[in-house]
Amino acid sequence: MQSKRFQKRTEDFICGHCGARTKGQGYTDHCPKCLWSRHVDINPGDRQSDCGGLMEPVGAEAKDGGYVIHYRCLKCGFKHRVKAASDDNLDEMLKIINQPIE
Ligand SMILES: [Zn+2]
Ligand SMILES: [Zn+2]
Repeated sequence: MQSKRFQKRTEDFICGHCGARTKGQGYTDHCPKCLWSRHVDINPGDRQSDCGGLMEPVGAEAKDGGYVIHYRCLKCGFKHRVKAASDDNLDEMLKIINQPIE
């Protein structure tokens, strides 16, 4: 059993959905352009998942003056929510904000 240390990641990543290059900020692991993410966390930021599947933004809700994005992993069906970043694409956000969240 290999123990993984908690690390704040700041590396750049390339979106698996739209191909946009995103500058890593340490917390944001989703693409600010299309909002898709990757299944790397079990709890936000822990990078403890080995799945690596693409996470589809399936819905969003307004909360505390910002947005919370709901995700579902295409590979394993894992669901989670993350706080949207301030530079996230608002058009994409508004497309999913009225989607029914299961
Ligand atoms: Zn993208
Ligand atoms: Zn997954």
